Formats: sequence, structure tokens, C-alpha cells
Amino acid sequence: MLAANACRGLWEEALKLLLQMQREKLEFDQFSLSAALSAAANLASLEEGKQIHCLSTKLGFDSNSFVENATMDIHGGLVDEGLRYFASITFEFGVPAAIEHCVCIVDLLGRSGRFREAIAFIKDMPVPPNDFVGRCLLAACRMHGNSEIGKVAAENLLRSNPSDDSAYVLYSNICATSGSCWVKLKNQISTFGIGDLSHPESEQIYRKLTELRKKIQEAGYIADTSYALHDTDEEQKEHNLWMHSERLALAYALINTPEGSVLRIFKNLRVCGDCHSVFKGVSSIISREIILRDPYRFHHFSGGQCSCVITGDNGIGNL
Ligand SMILES: [Zn+2]
Ligand SMILES: [Zn+2]
Repeated sequence: MLAANACRGLWEEALKLLLQMQREKLEFDQFSLSAALSAAANLASLEEGKQIHCLSTKLGFDSNSFVENATMDIHGGLVDEGLRYFASITFEFGVPAAIEHCVCIVDLLGRSGRFREAIAFIKDMPVPPNDFVGRCLLAACRMHGNSEIGKVAAENLLRSNPSDDSAYVLYSNICATSGSCWVKLKNQISTFGIGDLSHPESEQIYRKLTELRKKIQEAGYIADTSYALHDTDEEQKEHNLWMHSERLALAYALINTPEGSVLRIFKNLRVCGDCHSVFKGVSSIISREIILRDPYRFHHFSGGQCSCVITGDNGIGNL
């Protein structure tokens, strides 16, 4: 748990767990101490780092490469030193590398932005990579804003654990600066930006949107152009609204999912009020449940209504 917190950048949480372990007189292993050291390093808590190092010496772990390795981290991320230690335990001391050691290496490489090496390392790891490896990589991608590798890492995590949504959350943080939506189908993530034309199924997506637009207009939907950008005429404003990433993602999900299944769409910014109305309208004409998750809440659309109806559409805010 401590390592998981450290991997996900929750440094303070990691250190709190260390203190709790100490209070409850639980035994520390090299891995928990190493993760705690990394946490201290990231918080630039030299004092805590020193204490942890002292503790590890007292417990006789000082000769352990990975406490050293994490200590190196405190002194400025000497990744190569870490790699050398890793090599030395396997080759010189003949200790088989455990998954925990591999996680540390991926973490070290990732945090210093050496993604190509991190990936090469993962491919050649003596033990199969687990979720921690993926999370460390994803956390590093977030730190360095590397959405390309972040996407691959998120997809791998989803493949190994399809019900765990936290990979989306991490991935969404990577894309946070550019309003985008994504849909997961068969453990593959498709991302859409505003007015995106890059998707291989773009043509079908826009055709589907035209069809949906016509149907919901017949059912009474009127665009609220106050959500569109200014400086354009009404018609252009409405046209622009139909470029919003959540609608592209919705059309794509509709095309590619079996009749009757629940549609799941993720957005990294708050859904705009007009898209919210469109989703309500679509849920009434297609009689399918749509779940839209934005950073604020889950929206469950069904039968023309949304679960967030209590606060009304005014609660959505005008993005
Ligand atoms: Zn919108
Ligand atoms: Zn809602």
C-alpha cells in the first residue's frame, strides 16, 4: 500500500503509512522503506529521508541495494547508480530480481523521464510486470505530460484489470490540459478532442452525429448556444457545439457497441450544459443507458433524464 501510494505520487500518504506502521510496531521490509525514501525524496523532506535511512541502517538493511538506490534518489536522481545496483544484485550477488526491485527501476527511469529505457526494461524484466509497474509508468507519464506512453500504459492496466477505473483517472490527468473525451472499447482507449478529424472512423462518427441531431431536434431539443464560443453567428455557434468531444465520443461509442449495452464515456473537464442536454435527448431516443464521468461526478443518463437532475442543468456550470 505504501509503495502504491508512492507510485501514484501520494507522497504524504506514503509517509503517513510509514508512521502508522511504526506506531503499530509492524515490521518494515526493504521495499516499504525504499518506497518511503522515495516519498521523502519527492517531498524534499531531507529530515524524514535521513530518519528513514537511519532506520534502515538500524534494521540491517543498509547493505541492501534498494535502500541505497532510493537514497540516491534523494541526492538528485542518480538513476544510473540505481541501475548499477540493480545489475549488481542479480549478477554479483546472484539474488534473483523480484518484482519489487523491478518496480523501483521502472519508477526511477520513469520519474527521470527516461521512458524509452523504462519500456525496454519492462520488456526484458526477469519477472512478468504487474499492475504496480504500469502504475509507476503512468504516474511518470503524468509527471512528464507524456500522453502517448501514458495511453499505452493505461491500456495495459485496463487489459489486466478491466474493472479498475483508476487507470482512466490517471490517464485523464495526463490529458488534463487539453479538453478531451475518451471511450474504452475492448480495452482500447479512443481519445477525442474538439472537432477531431483524426479518428479513422471520423466519417461514420459525423454521419451518426447528424442523424442524432435530427432525431433529438424532432423530439424537442433546442441548442443552448450560450455554451458556444462568442464572435460567431447563431448557426456557426450551433455547428461548433456539435464538434464537442463528448458528442464525438458518444457517436463513436454508439457505432461500436452492441445494442442495449451501457455506454461509458469519460471527460477530463466538466461536461458543458448543452452536451448534457444532448446526452439526455439521446438517452431518450436510443433507450440505452449512458454513463458520462467528468472530474466532478458521474452522470447516468437514461430515458431522457440524468441522475444529477436534483441540481438541474444549472448545476452543470457553463464551461
Ligand atoms: Zn459541450
Ligand atoms: Zn448530469
